[in-house]
Formats: sequence, C-alpha cells, structure tokens
Amino acid sequence: MSKTPVIAVDGGAASGKSSTSRRLAARFNLMHVDTGSHYRAVTFALVQAGVSPHDTATIESALAHLKLGEEIDGQSARISIGGKVPREEDIRSDAVNAAVSPFAAVPAVRRFLFDYQRSQAAVAERSGFSGLIMEGRDIGSVIFPDAPLRFFLEADEATRAARRAKEGQTDSIAERDRIDSSRKTAPLVCPEGARRVDTSHLTLDQVVDLLAGEIEQATGLAPAQA
Ligand code: C5P
Repeated sequence: MSKTPVIAVDGGAASGKSSTSRRLAARFNLMHVDTGSHYRAVTFALVQAGVSPHDTATIESALAHLKLGEEIDGQSARISIGGKVPREEDIRSDAVNAAVSPFAAVPAVRRFLFDYQRSQAAVAERSGFSGLIMEGRDIGSVIFPDAPLRFFLEADEATRAARRAKEGQTDSIAERDRIDSSRKTAPLVCPEGARRVDTSHLTLDQVVDLLAGEIEQATGLAPAQA
C-alpha cells in the first residue's frame, strides 16, 4: 500500500472540484486525478460498443475487454483505454453527459474502476509527485476513506448552472446530481468527517487558499509554488 498523502475532493457537478483540485495540484506538486473522466471514458467506450446501461450482463462482458492504463500529462494522470487516452471532446459530448450517470450507477462499472482508482496513489509516488489529489463523488467515502484530508464542495444550483454556461457546456447537472445522489452504490454524499465547503459566494482563489491552508496543516506538505 502506497504511503503517499492523498487528498479527496468530492462534490456535485460544477461544484468547483476540478478547477480547485488542479490549482492545488500545481501548488503542492500533487498528481491530479479526475475520476469523473474515468466514468466518462468508460461510458464513451460502452456507448460506442452499443451497450445499454440497463443490460448488466453485456456491460460486464464489454468491460472485460477494456484495458486501463494512464498517461501523465503535466500535473494530471489521464486514463487510457487500450493504450489510448480518449479525446476530451468525446468524453464531454452531449451523449456522454446524458449516459454517464446511468452507467456510473451500475455496480459492475464501479467495481471495474475501484482498484484502478486506488492504484493511482502508487502511480503518483513512482512518478515523483509529493502526493495525490483525487476528485469525484465517492473518493472520501469509498475509494480513500482513510485519506488524511477529505473535502466536500457544494454550490447553489444557480451558481453551478452559471459556471457550466461560462464553460460553454450544455449539461443537465441537476439531473446528474439527482441520479448520483439517489443511486444505491456509492451515492454522492458528504462523508462523515469530511470538510464541507460552500463555494457559491467564494472566488476560486478564496477556495484554493482555504483548502491549501488545511492541506498544509493536515499533511505537512509545503507549497511548491504560491
Ligand atoms: O465529475 P464529472 O461531472 O465529470 O463526472 C461525471 C459523472 O461521473 C458524474 O455525474 C457521476 O455520475 C460519475 N462519477 C461517479 N463517481 C465519481 C466520479 C464521477 O459516479 N467518483
């Protein structure tokens, strides 16, 4: 088991997880992993194979053919499937936005990604990073429940919709959150003991500074850059 410090950042769609995690990764020389992109990449592969989220048997046999790996791209580790990192425009398409939460609710899909996601701590260590920052929906509750620091970011719905619109994306965030929060396996919840942060009325700089202070305190990591 890797001893590298792990920081878990969970929250709903457009809660500010990605921008915050990327900035913190740069500040503390952490490897950044966006687990939403893992579910998106697997969803893209399954949609391309013509698999439905309701057909569990076909999902399991299709998953058995997917070989996962990662490529380090600057501060981030990106998932690869069959040796290829899927394109951003493919995993963030309308079709994937609509299908990702139904696929992510399937226990076989979550099981398929569990070991891979846990293995990223060792990847961070052997790639020379000072630790791992992993964002998602169940990182502090399921993947790394023992992480020294677990954050849960929230923002009101109007703020989240405005953020997505600013990114030029059409994304049914309320519908995804409804499915993600109500599923039986690893639902989106603020895990017990996690630090809950409402980002609605904070700037990105303020959120980053707030979390950075807690990271320094809890892990002893020093900023690699201001
Ligand atoms: O983070 P992002 O919005 O890109 O995630 C896409 C979807 O992937 C989420 O709506 C959720 O259904 C799923 N997901 C998940 N568990 C995670 C990360 C993402 O179920 N740890």
